[in-house]
Amino acid sequence: MSPFMKRCLWLWTACIAACLPMNAKADEKLRVVTTTTDLAAIARAIGGEKVEVTSIATGREDPHFIAAKPSYMMATRKADLWIRVGLELEIGYEELILDGSRNAKIRIATPGHLDASEGVLRLEVPTQRIDRSMGDIHPLGNPHYWIDPLNGRIVAKNIGRRLAHLTPENAEYFADQTKAFQRQLDERMFGPELVGKIGGGKLWALLLKNRLEEVIDKPGQPPLGGWLAAMRPYRGRKIVTYHRSWSYFAHRFGLVVAAELEPKPGIPPSPGHVADVIKRVKAEKIKVLLMEPFYSRKAPDLVASETGIIVVQCANSVRGQPEATDYLSLMDGIVNRVSAALSR
Ligand SMILES: [Zn+2]
Repeated sequence: MSPFMKRCLWLWTACIAACLPMNAKADEKLRVVTTTTDLAAIARAIGGEKVEVTSIATGREDPHFIAAKPSYMMATRKADLWIRVGLELEIGYEELILDGSRNAKIRIATPGHLDASEGVLRLEVPTQRIDRSMGDIHPLGNPHYWIDPLNGRIVAKNIGRRLAHLTPENAEYFADQTKAFQRQLDERMFGPELVGKIGGGKLWALLLKNRLEEVIDKPGQPPLGGWLAAMRPYRGRKIVTYHRSWSYFAHRFGLVVAAELEPKPGIPPSPGHVADVIKRVKAEKIKVLLMEPFYSRKAPDLVASETGIIVVQCANSVRGQPEATDYLSLMDGIVNRVSAALSR
């Protein structure tokens, strides 16, 4: 190689070395790790091309019991943002994973740690002292809040704001993404025509004040659509659930959870309790039993054989069922399955 060529090669290498970190930074995505697939799905929807999201849970397991595997600690080692459901859902494993990751950026109370439950509507917040004899009761309220679409909307806002805080240069992008996601969610909830005419924010405000009828019953108004219209005929209907994980869905769409197969949250069904549920189902003519696919079918099938109740296996987490590929399709699936069973 001639001295000239050598010099060229040296210059070229030096140039690449100098340019690499710059390019890498410009293209660098925020590394987000979430505890659940639902948070991951919302983070992907809001973060778009600016984030790389992984979830600890797969969506097919009981979210209360996740083993703190070393691979999770490796996955979080380089994370820029950790997002948890909160309300103590992750109490059994979060600390172990965060400690094991040795990543100071995502410690609790740092900008790299987001509790997605900030500002969500909470149900079943205990007003009395709680102890272990009451089962798996969470002192901050029922943690299964993400299947209320209103809470999905709030989680999206929380994630959008935190992503913007971490990378202010992308703040506008995240704000636009949040707006687009909320618009899609509102259209799925109320129907696109009504959202187009009245606006999603206003429809939610009316729904929360119990004043939606005043608007949708007006002559000339577009019809109510979406999830709310699909569930409307079943308001006041009683259902049985396996675990206390459907309270938010029931509350939002006006269903009543009359009984649970677990005698207390997190305690497996006992023969005596199942017998009580069977009596109740018969007496109150309850038609639908709702359960996540990861629970045993034994007790539900027994109740079904004794009463004819329809057992609906339905995931309440993204990827818990093949069609639940993101947050909106998860909610589509729940509404479709539950309304189809209630219509029978
Ligand atoms: Zn639970």
